[in-house]
Amino acid sequence: MPELPEVEVIRRALAPRVVGRRIEEAQIALPRLTRRGGTPQGVAAAVTGRTVAALGRRGKCVLFDLGGESLIVRLGMTGQLLWWETGARFRPDSHTHAHLRFSGGGVLSYRDVRKFGELFLLPTATLETALRIGMEPLDSAFTVEALARVCRDSSVRIKSFLLDQRKIAGIGNIYADEALFRAGIRPTRRASSLRLEEIRALRRAVRTVLRSAIRHRGSTISDYRDPCGQPGDFAPLHRVYHRHGTPCAVCGTPIQRIVLGQRGTHFCSTCQR
Ligand SMILES: [Zn+2]
Repeated sequence: MPELPEVEVIRRALAPRVVGRRIEEAQIALPRLTRRGGTPQGVAAAVTGRTVAALGRRGKCVLFDLGGESLIVRLGMTGQLLWWETGARFRPDSHTHAHLRFSGGGVLSYRDVRKFGELFLLPTATLETALRIGMEPLDSAFTVEALARVCRDSSVRIKSFLLDQRKIAGIGNIYADEALFRAGIRPTRRASSLRLEEIRALRRAVRTVLRSAIRHRGSTISDYRDPCGQPGDFAPLHRVYHRHGTPCAVCGTPIQRIVLGQRGTHFCSTCQR
C-alpha cells in the first residue's frame, strides 16, 4: 500500500505535468470511488474546466488544488495514478476506474485493483480540519518535543501509534517497522513508555527512512508504480519488513514476525528493546 514516500514520489512526478493545466474532461466510472461525498458524475462535472493551481500531499493523500476546491485522491491499498503523455497513448484496462484529460493532451488515469481508493472534493480552506491528518514527519514542526508530547498521552503500542494517521501522517506498515528497527525500539512498547532519548532516535529514524525511501522512489512489494509505470527500488533495502526468518543485518538474529493490531509486524529481538 502506498505510504508517504510513494505518494510523495507520485506528487513530484506529476506536478510538472499537471500544474497550470486545465482539466478538459473527467470520467469516473466506479461509484465506490466517490463514496465519501458526491456522485461520480457530480465530482467529474465539478472538476471539468478547472485548472490545477498546485499539487500537494498530506499524509498518504494527493491534493489537486483547483482554486477554491481541492480534489483529494487516496490510493488505498492498490491505487495508481498513471500519466499518459498524449491521449493517443491512453490505454485503460479493466482496473482503470477514472481519468482526467488535460489541456495539452496528457491523460491522468486512476487504476485500482482492490478498489479501496477514494476521490473526493473539499473546499481548499477546510482541508486541514476535514482531513484530520496529524503531523507531517518531514516538516520542521515534527520536533522531538512535538513527538514527545503526543507519545506521552498515548498508552497504545508504539507500532499502532505510528500507524495512527491522526497522530503522524503518512506512515504505514512498511515504514513503521523499518523506523522502529532503525531506532532500536521494540514495536510492542507502549508509546508513553519511551524515554526522551528513544523519542529522539525514533524521530531521526522516521525521517531518515522516509527520506531514503523517497530517494529510492519508494517500495514496490506488489502493485506500487510511479506515474510512468516504474516500480520503486527501496524494497531490497528493507531491514525487517517481510524479512522474517532471515538474519538481522546488524546482529544475525533471525527477524521475527508477530501480529500486532491485526498487522504483520517485523523486528529483531536483539536490536530492538
Ligand atoms: Zn539485530
